[in-house]
Amino acid sequence: MTFDTVALDRMKLSDIHAPRRLGKVLHDMLGRLDGPVPILDIARALDVSEVRLDEFDGFEGMLLTTPARRTATILANTRYGTRRARFSVAHELGHFLLERHVLSDANGFRCTPRDLRETRDGQRHFRQEAEANQFAIEALAPVSMVKPFLNGEPDLRAALSLRNLLDISLEAAVRRILDLAPVFLGAVWSHNGAIRYLIRTQAFPFLTCGKGTLLPEASAAASAVANGKRGITEMRDVHSTIWTDRADIGLKEQTRVGKNGHAVTLLWADLPDHDDEEKDHGVAELVVPGFR
Ligand SMILES: [Zn+2]
Repeated sequence: MTFDTVALDRMKLSDIHAPRRLGKVLHDMLGRLDGPVPILDIARALDVSEVRLDEFDGFEGMLLTTPARRTATILANTRYGTRRARFSVAHELGHFLLERHVLSDANGFRCTPRDLRETRDGQRHFRQEAEANQFAIEALAPVSMVKPFLNGEPDLRAALSLRNLLDISLEAAVRRILDLAPVFLGAVWSHNGAIRYLIRTQAFPFLTCGKGTLLPEASAAASAVANGKRGITEMRDVHSTIWTDRADIGLKEQTRVGKNGHAVTLLWADLPDHDDEEKDHGVAELVVPGFR
């Protein structure tokens, strides 16, 4: 075990119902960490009696527990890699510790890939899933460890380094950078040139493409994906109307072409000063265009 389990006191966490705060208090107890957060050990130290990583069908993560939450078992699917499974463990630990979360079935919580990307609030199911995700990223990528990666201009290479340091997925690293960066960013995940999903920080302009559509024909992303050469392109200026509904802003884009036609594109908007003033300071919630 790489940390002092005695430092973890579940009683001190039991009255915290704000997911980000819960993650922060957890890290205050743990003290400084230099590498990946030992989330499995943390779960076990907080009354989760068993954590099973395996290939499962039909769910990404499952928490078997009772409303009283004396103990629990966490199952996490390794079908898409252990990094995603680590996120699933953290997400289920969130459902366990956020004691106001209402069990989604008789045996606890059963969470799908969609749940593990949920950012919406509103109806209870969405809110609970979004909160479990907020806790998970706070637990796996605490602000103090992410901050050094926010220096300098946005770059997917920083997301890759963050992924390697913290043993999280590239997707989680990109989302966390959008979450904390003091600039206006969007990110677009695609497969064989078709958009799978996209996110943006709150003040980022409206994206004119959407889930299921092709990457914009004139984008550098479309060229990089068509070329098929794996790796990360340089961040380059493109016309803002290729991606957004704004003609009066600066826009840069950079793409990482990965395995089997998968790619992620980072968008970086330079907004006029009066837009800057409207930007909320503090942590920006992620917004899924089309759902808000
Ligand atoms: Zn869940």
